[in-house]
Amino acid sequence: MSATAAPAVVPMLVGGRWVEATADAWEDVYNPSTGQVIARTPLAGKEAVDNAVAAAAKALPDWADTPVVERARVMFRFRALMEEHFEELATLVTREHGKTLAEARAELNRGVEMVEFSAGMPAMLMGQILPDIASGVDAECVKHPVGVCVGITPYNFPNMVPLWMFPVAITCGNTFVLKPSEKTPLSAVRLGELLTEAGLPDGVFNIVHGARDCVEALCTHPKVAAISFVGSTPVAKIVYETGTSHGKRVQAAGGAKNHLIIMPDADIDQTVKQLAASAYGCAGQRCMAGSVAVAVGAAGDPLVEGLVDFGKAMKVGPSDPAASSDAESIGMGPLIRDDHRKRVASYLDIAIDDGATVALDGRQSATGDGFLLGPSVVDHVAPTMRVVKEEIFGPVLSVSRVGTLEEALAQGDDCEYGNGAVIFTQSGHAAREFKRRFNAGMIGVNVGVPAPMAWFPFTGWNRSFFGDLHIQGTEGVQFYTRQKVTLTRWPKPSDSHDDPVWRSGR
Ligand code: NAD
Repeated sequence: MSATAAPAVVPMLVGGRWVEATADAWEDVYNPSTGQVIARTPLAGKEAVDNAVAAAAKALPDWADTPVVERARVMFRFRALMEEHFEELATLVTREHGKTLAEARAELNRGVEMVEFSAGMPAMLMGQILPDIASGVDAECVKHPVGVCVGITPYNFPNMVPLWMFPVAITCGNTFVLKPSEKTPLSAVRLGELLTEAGLPDGVFNIVHGARDCVEALCTHPKVAAISFVGSTPVAKIVYETGTSHGKRVQAAGGAKNHLIIMPDADIDQTVKQLAASAYGCAGQRCMAGSVAVAVGAAGDPLVEGLVDFGKAMKVGPSDPAASSDAESIGMGPLIRDDHRKRVASYLDIAIDDGATVALDGRQSATGDGFLLGPSVVDHVAPTMRVVKEEIFGPVLSVSRVGTLEEALAQGDDCEYGNGAVIFTQSGHAAREFKRRFNAGMIGVNVGVPAPMAWFPFTGWNRSFFGDLHIQGTEGVQFYTRQKVTLTRWPKPSDSHDDPVWRSGR
């Protein structure tokens, strides 16, 4: 694109055709490394949703009747294309999101694993049978697709989160409408192109763009059967309540405030590295990012010292290789938007006002173009402070100091969220107590980011998840299928003694 060219309009995919939407409102897509606008997302409403859902509904009968082995083969071809275009896809994530190339590659690998998981769908769709459940009666239970499924995704994983959803949904025999984040829609478009190239029939996968109105239209559309949502807790709750009150099944993953417990016997050097990777990876914009370190006993001082040293040495800068020749060596890239950077930075003042101390101020270490903010460490926080209670979603790690593991566990009980929690220790007993009792759904023992891989469910608790069946793993397969039980009796015809077939014993 030349310097004067207007940013491209992000197209929608409807019934196999790429269409340029007309819309009354638009969202700019930025390159966070440079601060430049690189595309414009149309914020479409009901009409675009009607068209996309109609296309998905039209494609449904044939796709549901397509043998599952053939549906799975599309995933094999899609996976091969993702591998072939791996660097291009990773660079696109970095360009529209700002995470480093290493982080973009890691995200993509997680997405590829979802495609690999889905390629095994024939085995996962096998049913159950119990012969002679009563005299002469056989019972079987088989899985059917649910219908038109919708995915509504956040900005922070433009590739991985859509891939949590549609590969599973469509190999289960459903058709799909994806509404990617209006802030990072370009990766979804590229995935749509690759799916088409992989031979997915028209209308099985569709994309609409928009924000609140578009989501509202999707959640209330009579032909939508199931909705998968990932995003912030307030929106997850709205989507869950609107979708379920309109008769749809909904899985809605929300925000988080993840606690990292550091016992006095933990290896501090290793722990600091893991904590920094957890809190500052993707510039803190992960639902599994560590955001409250709870130092038990003597762990506090060496931990804060180590974190400050580590943070000071981190290289913060533009992550886009087109914007910087240094991009591959960057430790932390920019945040998604300037207003988000300001919001995250404001928590440092809020923390000071609430009585905490800022041991490392990220505002001082980030200079240059783009929405950069360095790593921060806030020490001596208390559970009642906003910096502890609210999801900041940026590179700010708070450190709370407690005397015992019991006090650390109590902080988890006070937390409204419940995504991830981690303990660093050499004590098997402390780890066991923590694993059993901490109030969160994904637990790490000496693992900084305990995000489950494709084969396991992503088990957020409390206000980090609304619904019953989680995303990923076989829970995902259950979510995208409904079961049918058939009881069969084939009685021997009463006049069978006169039938030559029966007499001859054939
Ligand atoms: P967001 O809630 O602002 O947006 C998510 C989606 O909802 C987007 O597609 C957006 O267009 C739509 N949306 C936004 N406001 C809406 C409204 N008022 N009504 C209807 N739809 C609306 O989230 P985000 O800022 O894009 O992403 C960051 C959030 O996502 C964080 O809270 C993070 O913790 C969460 N997240 C959670 C998980 C998880 O698995 N639990 C994973 C990734 C991100």
